[in-house]
This record gives sequence, C-alpha cells and structure tokens, in this order.
Amino acid sequence: MPYINTVLKCPCCGAAELIADSRDLPHTYKGKSTVVAAVQGNFCPACGEVVLSRSSGDRYGEKIGQFQQLVDEAERERSFRGRT
Ligand SMILES: [Zn+2]
Repeated sequence: MPYINTVLKCPCCGAAELIADSRDLPHTYKGKSTVVAAVQGNFCPACGEVVLSRSSGDRYGEKIGQFQQLVDEAERERSFRGRT
C-alpha cells in the first residue's frame, strides 16, 4: 500500500477524491478473518482503495503481523497434534 501525505485523487483508479476517515478494516489471512479497528487513512469511494498515513500504516501493519503470527502458530499446533 503506498504512503502518500497529500492525497487528492485515488492512486488506484484516479477517478475519485479520497475521503479522510477512520474505519475498521477487515483482513483475511489463510482463511481467518480479523478487523483492525479505527484505521485512519484516505478512502476512495469509487474503488475502495485505502491510502494510509505513515503512522496508521505502521500500526495497521503491526496488527496484521500479529494476527498472521497467531494464525501461523495455531496452524503449527494443529499440524503438530495431527502427527502424534
Ligand atoms: Zn479509487
């Protein structure tokens, strides 16, 4: 996801003006879903592209990383148990 500080047009579709907002962003990893609450960014009303500010992008990435780690750990545990 690109980091842009002054956003006017959507970098994805270029059609619409982005709307600065704070929203809950869903994320899916290996079939598991989570929601990162109150992510601040600029949202495209046309195509749904999200441009995050640097700080919220870092926070979002961190949450996603933690979630993926949990999913990976649960998966390891399952396959471990399956073998015994
Ligand atoms: Zn767009």
